Amino acid sequence: MPWEKNLRTRPTKLRLLRIFTQGLSLFLFNLAIFNFAQTWLILPVEAPQTPWSTSEGAFYVMQHMLTSALIPFLPLAIFFIIGGLVGRAFCGWFCPFGLVQDLVGFIPTEKYEPTEESNKDGRHFGEFLTVVFIIVAAFIGSQMIFGDPEKTIQGFGDFVSDPYSVLSPVVTLFLTIPLYIIHGGWPLSIDAIFGRLLFWIKILILLIIIFITLYIPRTYCRYLCPTGIIMGRIGKHSLIGISVDPIKCTDCGKCEDVCPMGVRILNNLDDANHLRSEACIMCMDCVVSCEEDGAISLKIRL
Ligand code: SF4
Ligand code: SF4
Repeated sequence: MPWEKNLRTRPTKLRLLRIFTQGLSLFLFNLAIFNFAQTWLILPVEAPQTPWSTSEGAFYVMQHMLTSALIPFLPLAIFFIIGGLVGRAFCGWFCPFGLVQDLVGFIPTEKYEPTEESNKDGRHFGEFLTVVFIIVAAFIGSQMIFGDPEKTIQGFGDFVSDPYSVLSPVVTLFLTIPLYIIHGGWPLSIDAIFGRLLFWIKILILLIIIFITLYIPRTYCRYLCPTGIIMGRIGKHSLIGISVDPIKCTDCGKCEDVCPMGVRILNNLDDANHLRSEACIMCMDCVVSCEEDGAISLKIRL
């Protein structure tokens, strides 16, 4: 589909508004760079803990707690309360890595929309990875208590305190690369280039995800992000969400043509015509695109 007609990523007013809220969040989440005190604010977004961050993403906190043999009640409560209320709205409006993906989406390339089945398969792969990260973190925590902590630290190496962070492209972008630059690792020396395999694996993962995002909008959010996977499972049943009025809807499909997450809205309505999708990030593009007044709207779904 040529760029002019690419409805999923064209920078509309609403999308620019979301860029603003996401950019503001990125700024506020990193206020410690200006010597503001770090807070203990935990949110369901991809915001890793850094020396300059004021808050942290719930999945990162969950990983740290599990590897420390603590039951992650607090991050779980945040997932359930926010996800249960507003679904994945934080993905659409406040996530720093969502911002990066939306900006990449504005680059004029021909976008591709996978089939609903392929999107589901991709999400199942992400669910599998999420479960693996949780099990590995819990295993590390159990070894710290019941096994030999020294051997566990040696055995798991970089993965010992938060297995997900080591491979997360979000950590690579917002922590690893800035640290590398701050501590004089940039420009790269020959030693640095060949020095650390893990560093280059991280960079490669980030580049591959950004490259695919050029063609499939929000690739990471759709398929891989553990925060999005968990929030999607909970948010599918959120109190506030998208609903369709079947009397006013003419089945024109415009709402689906603009959805950056590729949600097949009309195929995923429940008996009360509420959208039940794990992918919906509440961006509201579908609502704004609809020309039939009241056919699709944001509602409290009791
Ligand atoms: S799914 Fe996307 S928007 Fe949501 S937390 Fe993950 S990276 Fe951020
Ligand atoms: S279904 Fe609507 S609100 Fe949800 S992601 Fe798609 S366009 Fe955005």
